[in-house]
Amino acid sequence: MDRPQAGGHKPHGIARGPWRRQRQTTHVPPPTGQIPLYQLEQRNRPDVTQLSSVTLVILSHRSLWMDRSERTSSAKPPSQVKNGTNGTMTSLPATLLSDLHVQYIKSLDTIVPPSEFALLASRPEFTGIWPLQKKDDLEYWLTEHLRVNGVYWGLTALDLMNNIDALERDQVIKYLQDCQHENGGFGGHLNHDPHLLYTLSAIQILVTYDRLDAIDVDKVVSYVRSLQLPDGSFSGDEWGEIDIRFCYCAISCMSLLKRLDAIDVPRTVEFVVRCKNYDGGFGSQPGSESHAAMVFCGVGALAIVNALHHVDADLLGWWLCERQLGNGGLNGRPQKLEDVCYSWWVLSALSILGRVHWINKEKLISFILSAQDTEAGGIADRPGDMADVFHTLFGVAGLSLLGYPGLKSVDPVYCMPKHVIQRVGLAERYRV
Ligand SMILES: [Zn+2]
Repeated sequence: MDRPQAGGHKPHGIARGPWRRQRQTTHVPPPTGQIPLYQLEQRNRPDVTQLSSVTLVILSHRSLWMDRSERTSSAKPPSQVKNGTNGTMTSLPATLLSDLHVQYIKSLDTIVPPSEFALLASRPEFTGIWPLQKKDDLEYWLTEHLRVNGVYWGLTALDLMNNIDALERDQVIKYLQDCQHENGGFGGHLNHDPHLLYTLSAIQILVTYDRLDAIDVDKVVSYVRSLQLPDGSFSGDEWGEIDIRFCYCAISCMSLLKRLDAIDVPRTVEFVVRCKNYDGGFGSQPGSESHAAMVFCGVGALAIVNALHHVDADLLGWWLCERQLGNGGLNGRPQKLEDVCYSWWVLSALSILGRVHWINKEKLISFILSAQDTEAGGIADRPGDMADVFHTLFGVAGLSLLGYPGLKSVDPVYCMPKHVIQRVGLAERYRV
């Protein structure tokens, strides 16, 4: 199956698929019922237990719309889950396998299995450029629309692991130029429609590389502004889906471009605040239940425009630290499964609010490390599942927020390396 490639440049097939897949022959334990909360250290937490139990009951009856990986519960501690692509019982990694993860990310655009990539990369003739695309892999095409996001996830993880040069910088920039449309927005891949989600990823990559000069910034500003609605919200693209994620995308994007003046920020703040719930969290739209990923979007957007006075830091901080389960992992809503990516959505908001110490750091670090693929590299959503670049970034970024040694610091608002945010003069300008 051949696809057109603009300018002879290869598409960057980094995304591995957002859905949950189990590693080969890996056994995942059956659901074991509700996980008891409050097993963790209670020190420094406010005494709002009464509120949390009410929250739990009401939210558990709301409609489900998130991915199926959230819908059942497995309280199995990481140490009881088989590990490795052959399903064999191996000792769980006690450290971050950075070298393996770097090789994993570099391998994602090849037909070479990740397990064999390290050998290939050690050969003198290896140039560091992805030799072949895995066009024969159905997953490669199914994730085509996420390719620009995938480059951002991979590049950011690599930079945090001190390996930003593992990707070909010029090749990435040329690829992004080819993904920009005449209206200024970026598609998720060559010849894909523009969308705010991909536009933000493209800008994040270009700012990380300090190469905004490679694109027409004024067109991007015009594109983002064109998506703002009279109530202050943003639609993701011309087709009109609206939710708080796109408010974050627009504000983050315009902030990175130093063009917040081009949109109506006060109206956007009004919309974001309308998404806030009585439990202190944020939903995708006004009236939607609180969800940790939406909390990141709400808190991040308000932090960028220095409007965190709309957040009840203690109330929201409590809701966020309640997301930690007995095995150390974090979930996105009450009674849902733990998932490595919530190490980012929850921790980033706690970090912005100055309350990371409200969760048990050691247990969360242990959970993230247990979700590593010790053979082929990468981090999965939870132990025993297939690794993907999305969870690899958010596992590494979560570890960075927890102060894990050897990693660069990540900025909790922009989800980019802190040194980049400091370089562009946007570091920690908000007040809690
Ligand atoms: Zn996840």
